[in-house]
Order: sequence, then C-alpha cells, then structure tokens
Amino acid sequence: MNVAAILNEKGRQVVTAGRKQTILEIAQRLSEAKIGSVIITDDKDAVVGIVSERDIVRHLGTSGQDVLNRPVETCMTTNVISCQESDTIEEIMAQMTSRRFRHMPVVEDNNLVGLVSIGDVVKFRIAEAEMEADAMRQYISAG
Ligand code: AMP
Repeated sequence: MNVAAILNEKGRQVVTAGRKQTILEIAQRLSEAKIGSVIITDDKDAVVGIVSERDIVRHLGTSGQDVLNRPVETCMTTNVISCQESDTIEEIMAQMTSRRFRHMPVVEDNNLVGLVSIGDVVKFRIAEAEMEADAMRQYISAG
C-alpha cells in the first residue's frame, strides 16, 4: 500500500499559509481546522516550510507571548522532508519514526498534492490489519 491510497480516502486538501502571517494567525488556523501543522508556501505555491503546534509551543515556552505577533517564518522548519504518492506506507512510517515528526507533505513535480499525518498512517495500518484478520478467519472457517 502506498501514500496515494491514503490520499484517495482522506482527500488532497492541505491547509497552507504565507511566511509573513503571524504565529497567532497560524495558531488560529490550527485550532479552526483541528489539525497539527500548516504548510508554508511562497507566492508560486512552492513549499518553503512547515510549522507544527510543537514549534509554536516551543517558541512560546522559550520567548513568551510576544512571539505571537512575529511572522511564522521565525518559527517554521525550512528543511521540509516530503514524500511522493508512490512511496509505501512502511517507508513514510520509517521516516516519521527516525526523524521524530508526525507530518509529511506529499509533493509531485514541485506541486503540493496532499499531506499525510501519523494519525492517517496509524488509521490505515489498523484497517489493513483488520482486513488481514478477517481474510484469515474466512480462510480458517472455510477449512
Ligand atoms: P510534528 O511532530 O510533526 O509536530 O513536528 C515536530 C518537529 O518537526 C517540528 O519542529 C516541525 O516543524 C518539524 N516537522 C514536522 N514535519 C516535518 C517534515 N515533514 N519535514 C521536516 N520537518 C518537519
């Protein structure tokens, strides 16, 4: 199974923002959309960063509430690790685990086409395990 299978089910919409938007505005987007990260894009829609709730909490914890009025570019991660639709679920799980992050944008030919979170991956793996168990039960009972 690959990333395309997840996107086919959850959809390809991604919440994005510009690098000059304030950290407060980003926090409001995260809260409204009930998500954990926002992808930062430039005026050509190219991915230039990712900011997760952890980045905002870390900045608030170290620098205080003044950070809320600063542009998100001061707290985003610029070295964004992305994946492709053809990547397997196992490959992106391994990346998320070894690099310790929970979100991966899906990029095809420099275009942002989706986002996969660790929650999507876990949901998918559980569904897969249940299907395998069902198939095994049917196989045994057909015995
Ligand atoms: P997360 O676990 O996704 O909330 O993110 C933990 C840290 O990794 C934060 O500093 C994020 O900005 C960063 N991060 C999250 N996703 C990615 C990614 N795909 N590529 C690079 N950094 C990321």
